[in-house]
Amino acid sequence: MRQAAELAIDLGTANTLVFQKGQGIILNQPTVVAMEARTGDVLALGTDAWDMIGRTPASIVAVRPLRHGAVTDYEVTAQMLRLIMRSVGVTRWSKPRTMVCVPSAITDVERRAVEEATKAAGARSVTLIEEPMAAAIGAGLPIHEPIGNLIVDVGGGTSEVAMVSMGGLIAKRSVRVGGFDMDAAIQQHLRREYNLAIGEQAAEHVKISAGAAYPLPDATTTEVRGRDVTTGMPRPVELTQEEIREALAEPVAAVVGAARECLAEGPPELGHDVLERGMFLCGGGALLRGLDMRISQECEVPVHLTETPLETVVVGAGRCLEVPEAAGLFAAWRI
Ligand code: ADP
Ligand code: MG
Repeated sequence: MRQAAELAIDLGTANTLVFQKGQGIILNQPTVVAMEARTGDVLALGTDAWDMIGRTPASIVAVRPLRHGAVTDYEVTAQMLRLIMRSVGVTRWSKPRTMVCVPSAITDVERRAVEEATKAAGARSVTLIEEPMAAAIGAGLPIHEPIGNLIVDVGGGTSEVAMVSMGGLIAKRSVRVGGFDMDAAIQQHLRREYNLAIGEQAAEHVKISAGAAYPLPDATTTEVRGRDVTTGMPRPVELTQEEIREALAEPVAAVVGAARECLAEGPPELGHDVLERGMFLCGGGALLRGLDMRISQECEVPVHLTETPLETVVVGAGRCLEVPEAAGLFAAWRI
């Protein structure tokens, strides 16, 4: 008999990743589903879902079911997990063992719902790991030592900051603010200042190509094409880098604030470690230009980006499958 697969699953608000023990990352897709509007049935996930829209009846819509944070809708989560497992080749006979990443802020009821949903989707067993812990492991931090490790994970719908030491979460902060809110802030700025409407994906593009959290030396302008809200006509506008930075100020400040608070909340000895060793930044939102410098300036500590910010969490959970001692102490120390 073939050995059951062991999978680590990061069901993020923006992206879903699956790591298979012995293989590495085997799935990396946007967390978008095609849903039958009337019944709520989930028909396809990720790029398959985008492909479906427009080619199928209008009653099928694309939704980001987790965009506002935790996995709260049991039925949708279970259906998504079933599709994920099917697309990585899990069959009824090859029930995998799974390690599922969850936001540290979720309630016990939500935890149980995720466990049940994963089993219902075909898993033989489910172990939950808190995302900041997985991120710290994925970043290669010495989490089992009596050293303060501070990890900041900026996702699409949420950002989490945690201080990890001796295999446990010593302090944590979680805000429902992330990259999606930055996109929305750019849309809002264009509408308010220029009476111009642009789509979410166009706003994300502006953020990635010209957004910043800190004044940058290469300050240029960026052309954005949108639709005039009053006339409906297409119209381009030029945005300066400074005004994009100002438009992003609020969500950026929320992320920076969470990092500061978490650092202030931890015991001073661990804070000193962070002062020396720095904070570690991961999640797609960490790639916003200058965010590292901004956090560094406001928290007065060095800030390092992890090697592959979008993959850090799933890689950390994957490492726990490959080296179970990596996760060893965390359950006992969980706060
Ligand atoms: P989640 O874990 O919530 O699924 P991710 O860690 O996958 O989120 O990050 C997704 C977010 O990162 C999106 O909002 C996306 O726009 C943002 N992002 C990705 N690349 C960049 C970039 N180069 N600059 C700024 N934001 C980015
Ligand atoms: Mg994430």
